[in-house]
Amino acid sequence: MLNFVLFGPPGAGKGTQSQKLIEKYQLIHISTGDLFRAHIKNQSSLGQQVSQLIADGQLVPDAITIAMLEEEVDKNPEAKGIIFDGFPRTVPQAQALDEFLESKGTAISGVIALDVDQDELCKRIAQRQIETGRIDDQADKLQKRIEEYFNKTVHVLPYYEAQNKLVKVNGIGKIDTIFAELSAVVDQY
Ligand code: ADP
Repeated sequence: MLNFVLFGPPGAGKGTQSQKLIEKYQLIHISTGDLFRAHIKNQSSLGQQVSQLIADGQLVPDAITIAMLEEEVDKNPEAKGIIFDGFPRTVPQAQALDEFLESKGTAISGVIALDVDQDELCKRIAQRQIETGRIDDQADKLQKRIEEYFNKTVHVLPYYEAQNKLVKVNGIGKIDTIFAELSAVVDQY
């Protein structure tokens, strides 16, 4: 299987690029943010449990997130590969993912980190807030998400670097130019 983690701060373009990658390489896209938003929309018990945390820009606890992720992977036993978007966001999530994939006889092939500076991220998210009305894109909530990113999520990078799986790609520029760079990385596997 070709399994990639698409990594980057809020607004880095993970969702946009994931969509293009799954089309080109016939992979499955699993976005924990999208899964949580679907649960909230459907008012499932999980949705009710996490809606406040997400609205406040906090991370959902690892146990809940990992269980949801594993269930989603199990729904796709025939997948040629998976793009993980928004997961793992903590080191325990990364460890859990490694163990889980190993138990299925597979592994993460590579981790692609989209590099985008803070100014550009803030501009993009302000625009997205106007377009989609996502409540956690509001300025005060966004601040919390950026904090969570720098407190917890960045530590995932050295975890994968130690496994020689980390590749950084410039996330600023035309969508298609970034996509070409990502494709060049995926083609090496
Ligand atoms: P972003 O656009 O910030 O990358 P996502 O759509 O991926 O955001 O996620 C939105 C929110 O869902 C996060 O701010 C967090 O509250 C929750 N969430 C998503 N993925 C995870 C995860 N792996 N661990 C914990 N919380 C998560």
